[in-house]
Amino acid sequence: MRFLRSPGAAAHPWTDPEELRDGQIRKLRAGLAEVLETNSFWRSRLTEVRSWDDFERLPLTTKAELLADQISKPPYGTNLTHSLDRYVRLHQTSGSSGDHPLLWLDTAESWEWWERIWSEHVYPAAGVSAGDRVFLAFSFGPFIGFWSAFGGAQRLGALAISGGAMTSEQRIRTMLDLRATVLMCTPTYALRLADVARRLGIELEKSDIRVTLHAGEPGASIPATRAAIESAYSAACFDHTGMTELGPTGFSCSQRDGIHAIESEFIFEVLDSSGRPAPEGELVATNLGRWGTPLIRYRTGDRVKVSREPCSCGSPFMKLVGGIQGRVDDMFTVRGVNLYPSQVEDIVRGHPEVTEFVIEHRRVREMDEVSLLVEVAGEDSTERLEADLRQALGVRLGCRVVETGTLPRSDVKSKRIVRVSG
Ligand SMILES: [Zn+2]
Repeated sequence: MRFLRSPGAAAHPWTDPEELRDGQIRKLRAGLAEVLETNSFWRSRLTEVRSWDDFERLPLTTKAELLADQISKPPYGTNLTHSLDRYVRLHQTSGSSGDHPLLWLDTAESWEWWERIWSEHVYPAAGVSAGDRVFLAFSFGPFIGFWSAFGGAQRLGALAISGGAMTSEQRIRTMLDLRATVLMCTPTYALRLADVARRLGIELEKSDIRVTLHAGEPGASIPATRAAIESAYSAACFDHTGMTELGPTGFSCSQRDGIHAIESEFIFEVLDSSGRPAPEGELVATNLGRWGTPLIRYRTGDRVKVSREPCSCGSPFMKLVGGIQGRVDDMFTVRGVNLYPSQVEDIVRGHPEVTEFVIEHRRVREMDEVSLLVEVAGEDSTERLEADLRQALGVRLGCRVVETGTLPRSDVKSKRIVRVSG
């Protein structure tokens, strides 16, 4: 495997935790000064913040509240600090959970903030630099996805190559023809491209790709998924977290045992189900550089466990151990055992014959029935997979082989759990 030549640590203006905290509150106070003058969404919810105590008393904000605001004041809602002519970009959420998409505007300054975080934190931590050719296997539609990664690569001085409006085969051939060194896409799609290449008789492990960088799903922090990607490409695989509403929140470093949360650009909190600070729970974030459409104490819905142990990469930022563990509402129960999709994924990805999977959760007469639908290449026996799942999870999870190509596929975000009623 061509590992990183020198996994670069990002530039850290604040290395001392006290300095970091002081910097956060200073940025927040400066940003809120204008927001509280003109942004009617926040004017109705916030008061001036002078201290951390003031901050912790502010209300939490949910996606449902943002959606309700846009529906009642279409199309953009009231979270606007400036008049419309100051905004230069419009994106929207993927709507993968079946929700009404949320529209999101950026000013030139806030978009520059997104791209700068890529070039100063995410790319350097993965060892990507100006000499790289970055191929983005992404549709470049209205979903914000990898748009900022594209701009960030350009800002870094690397060559940014769009893989929009291409079939998987075209993407593979373009990546090879242009000798791309970095592949960016969702982890599921990286495995799908590898599967397509295999069918075409193309050996991606012999390509120039030396780094793969992923977002949209937690897979790149799931050991078996990461191992499958690294073996398919003979490259080092990295994770990145971000959200349309918030911006780029984290990156995996040379240690690759979790995600560093970018505390120079966000305030992060982790709250338990009763809303109290805890080492494990829901991640709540406040961005400190997107003042045209800010979010204060936003409930991400992501389940995380944090560590403040120093990391050998030198980053001063706290770590989300093992990356994002899943969505707070993604838990399902099999015979009294609570499980998350990422636990299942970690087992499934150790079975290279499984090319796609989905967890089907069915509620029948007040009983939970969970089965795994899988697409397999070659012989379609699921006995070994069922045995491994039973051993790792402690419960029996039935697997059903479905025809290749019947499970939903996306280069944006794969939904791992499908809930069916009746
Ligand atoms: Zn680190």
